[in-house]
Amino acid sequence: MANVLVVAEARGGALKKVAFEATTAARTIADASGGQVHAVLVGAPGIAAEASKLGATGADVVHVCEHPALEQFDAEVLAATVAAAAGATAARAIVVGGTAMGQDIAPRVAAKLGVGVAADATEVTMDGDAIVIRHPMATGKVIATLAASGPVAVITVRPGALAVGTEARAGTVQSLAPALDPAASRVKVTKLTTGGGGKLDLAEAPVVVSGGRGLKAPENFKLVEELADAFGNAAVGATRAVTDDGWRPHSDQIGQTGRQVAPNLYVAVGISGAIQHVAGMRNSKTIVAINKDKDAPIFKVADYGIVGDVFEIVPKFTEMVKAARAQR
Ligand SMILES: Cc1cc2nc3c(=O)[nH]c(=O)nc-3n(C[C@H](O)[C@H](O)[C@H](O)COP(=O)(O)OP(=O)(O)OC[C@H]3O[C@@H](n4cnc5c(N)ncnc54)[C@H](O)[C@@H]3O)c2cc1C
Repeated sequence: MANVLVVAEARGGALKKVAFEATTAARTIADASGGQVHAVLVGAPGIAAEASKLGATGADVVHVCEHPALEQFDAEVLAATVAAAAGATAARAIVVGGTAMGQDIAPRVAAKLGVGVAADATEVTMDGDAIVIRHPMATGKVIATLAASGPVAVITVRPGALAVGTEARAGTVQSLAPALDPAASRVKVTKLTTGGGGKLDLAEAPVVVSGGRGLKAPENFKLVEELADAFGNAAVGATRAVTDDGWRPHSDQIGQTGRQVAPNLYVAVGISGAIQHVAGMRNSKTIVAINKDKDAPIFKVADYGIVGDVFEIVPKFTEMVKAARAQR
């Protein structure tokens, strides 16, 4: 029987979607051997209200660690608490969202347990006793398959790559004490600055509308913002060419050296489709590309391609989206 521990990431008192995706991966591993999924939920007092959502998506037990000093992410305390919980629950695997937070704590937890990390999983399955993890490499040109056969595996899952499970479990809440005194932490997070002006986070948004140098000037990005607004559930992304030129903040950059996204719909506006950009968005469920060059590489990964001028196409596209939503 193999139990699996999920690190359920929350921000601002609410769980992030990747916490449910990690729970899905954990469920796959636990179900193969009749084990249980345990989730660790850490935050300021009140975070326990989120626990039932983890039960609804497949967690058997939710270990809630509440402390006033844990309103902001504290890698030292979280890693120590997760490592202790892994021991207490006899976890065979620890699954963490591959976010900035997850990438910070996964190696810390692995180091404490003396094991390795399988990072950036886009698929988690079982083959006998081995946990099989698939993850893209070389800007998505190669899919590596890893088999974690050791006593404990620490796995990070790429945000947006896995479906959210619908199989509800008890989600029994147990209280968990932090393994270190949060007030004595050596690192204090004094301020959290989020990108995107308070709009949807790129990794969480069901729709991402991204713009490239084909928009010609920063002020023309309003075309992308208006299309995103028309969808109502879209975040705005950009290519590195655009962020390097200061048209958009670096937090908006999608690609090999930027954010990884896998929304239901990705709209690429005036983007050539360089491999470094495609590496960050090729796992999107449906890709629509608008480019005036019919030979642009973006059309090789697009499900729907529109060959045309973004200044003509995008305003029409925006009106059509608005009209379609108005009819609902
Ligand atoms: C180590 C390394 C890491 C990198 N990491 C990243 C990364 O993480 N993310 C990333 O995005 N890039 C990354 N890059 C840069 C990448 O190689 C490309 O240079 C960049 O993605 C190109 O951005 P773009 O598509 O906006 O611009 P361009 O390549 O200049 O493409 C603009 C496109 O707009 C089209 N266009 C022009 N005018 C119009 C119009 N009026 N209507 C319609 N279409 C029009 C053109 O046909 C063209 O295809 C990296 C590069 C390196 C070397």
